[in-house]
Amino acid sequence: MEQHLFVISLDALGALDLKDTSELPVLRELIQTGTHIQEVETIYPSLTYPAHTSIITGHYPTTHGIINNTKIQPEKDSPDWFWYKKAIQVPTLYDLAKEKGMTTAAFLWPVAAKSNIDYNIAEIFPNRFWLTQMMVSLHASSSLFLIDMDRKFGHLRKGINQPELDIFLTASVVDTIKTKKPTLLLTHLVDMDSMRHAHGVHSTEAKAALKRHDNRLAEIIQATKDAGIYENTVFAILGDHYQINVTHAIRLNVLFAEKGWLTVVDGKITDWKVYAKSCDGSCYIYTKNEKHNQEIEFLLQSINEIEEILSTKELTRRGADSQATFMVEGKSGYYFMDDIDGPLYEKVTEETLGKPGYYKAVHGYSPSKPDYKTTIIFNGPGIKKGEKIAGAHLVDEAPTFARILGLQFPNTAGTVIEALFE
Ligand SMILES: [Zn+2]
Repeated sequence: MEQHLFVISLDALGALDLKDTSELPVLRELIQTGTHIQEVETIYPSLTYPAHTSIITGHYPTTHGIINNTKIQPEKDSPDWFWYKKAIQVPTLYDLAKEKGMTTAAFLWPVAAKSNIDYNIAEIFPNRFWLTQMMVSLHASSSLFLIDMDRKFGHLRKGINQPELDIFLTASVVDTIKTKKPTLLLTHLVDMDSMRHAHGVHSTEAKAALKRHDNRLAEIIQATKDAGIYENTVFAILGDHYQINVTHAIRLNVLFAEKGWLTVVDGKITDWKVYAKSCDGSCYIYTKNEKHNQEIEFLLQSINEIEEILSTKELTRRGADSQATFMVEGKSGYYFMDDIDGPLYEKVTEETLGKPGYYKAVHGYSPSKPDYKTTIIFNGPGIKKGEKIAGAHLVDEAPTFARILGLQFPNTAGTVIEALFE
């Protein structure tokens, strides 16, 4: 019988979320009958697109190429995200699976638009006024498959609002398991991440989202039983990063504009010599030449809310974008914004919450921040039962997934987590 691997990403799932599973019966059972790697160190910057790409390539962002969620496009109100697969510079798990003729399916898996996945609902959204959600989704996804899922379950969606989007997605996953029985299935559920951004890490809304995820896992597991593949399916339930509550935003480009390093026309940045590109909890500083570097460093050192200033060499060593001149790490409680439409420092208030860019909690921080680990559970044939492993790295997941499917990456930064196999 063919071995299946179903990877289920619960965006923003932290190690702390699974300390007490008394109200999470499905996750509790998966832990008790599988192997729980309790603390997984994410990558830098700890953002969804870089992290999900590390999860399926085994490489750090500096190598796989997805160094941020969004591109450097200061002139645009809403920059493009790294939606498209072509931006990934190394082989992915689904590339290896396709080479061996395995059937693959993905549901809002980041950076998989226009990929070779057989059944793909791509994560993308329209950021230009002339585009609609259906136009961009059809272009980026397996279009006939998307039309079929939307015909069957589209009534469950309300645009891309949560929790309706994850309800639609879970229904699509369940149907696909029963009708297509994919060998490799990748799912990205965002309900809890959205609730944490809007309401805070430990909010009742975030806790309710995690309980909804627990129910969704039950539906997905049941679907494998209905499809007759449960005995041959390994489940990997994981997070990409955790979140940290914030109170203030910092706009470094306001400082750079005062220095005359930005060209601003009608309130828009049209050109730059020095540009701060936010990763929420951390921030890249890009420069077009070296002559301002000392002055930039001096400016950054004067900001109390910056915990650490990293040089190109150091930020590259930590796996971030080697094209950046500096990277700054915010202290817990502070995060960075790209725009210049406000003050250098701004307190997040009930009035500003709900506007774009204002949050109660964010991620993007250094993986070494305290209480900031994510986690992963493996469960299924060949996986040890009731085993706990203290720690691993996010980049260890891809080579481990490959091993489960009998595949092998040519090389990875991470290594196979041997201890979880029977
Ligand atoms: Zn995420």
